[in-house]
Amino acid sequence: MTHPDIESIIIPEEKVRERVRELGAEVSRDYEGRSVLLVAVLRGAALFIADLSREITVPVELDFMAVSSYGSSTKSSGVVRILKDLDEQIEGRHVLVVEDILDTGLTLKYLLKNLASRKPASLEVITLLSKEGKQRVPISCKYVGFSVPDAFVVGYGLDFAQRYRNLPYIGVLKPSAYQD
Ligand code: IMP
Repeated sequence: MTHPDIESIIIPEEKVRERVRELGAEVSRDYEGRSVLLVAVLRGAALFIADLSREITVPVELDFMAVSSYGSSTKSSGVVRILKDLDEQIEGRHVLVVEDILDTGLTLKYLLKNLASRKPASLEVITLLSKEGKQRVPISCKYVGFSVPDAFVVGYGLDFAQRYRNLPYIGVLKPSAYQD
């Protein structure tokens, strides 16, 4: 059943599952013979990393970072603060950053620069969603789940005011849901 605050579902649950399976298979092929350290950016990527990691057949380790970007909740400012750093050392490791959505790219740009300075053996990005025509800074993203229109989306980890992360699909909120 669709949540009453959702105006429309843009990626149904079955499609999300199918794509995550495909991405897991692709990552497994590309990292054959190596192990990969998945680094998720909390909290939005939590659901994606949980499902993706279960589809990867090479040895996997998980680590987490939390960042906050200053500014309002629906717009990126590009100024990023690390709230929680990695627990692992990444020097010489194959690091795959797991993101929920690539919007302006400002958060990721900052993060990649920071991680690259720690000298990983390789550093790539997998994002479940990428907003069409929205990237303000060029980010080379090796794996993209879906391109989505430039609208504010929720579900499968993505929130509005910390809600809707548990929806199993990606959807657009009704305007009334922003007003409470
Ligand atoms: P960027 O720095 O503009 O690329 O912003 C990336 C972060 O902003 C994402 O990791 C999300 O946490 C958040 N974000 C951007 N667009 C949306 C959206 O449509 N719904 C929910 N969160 C979003």
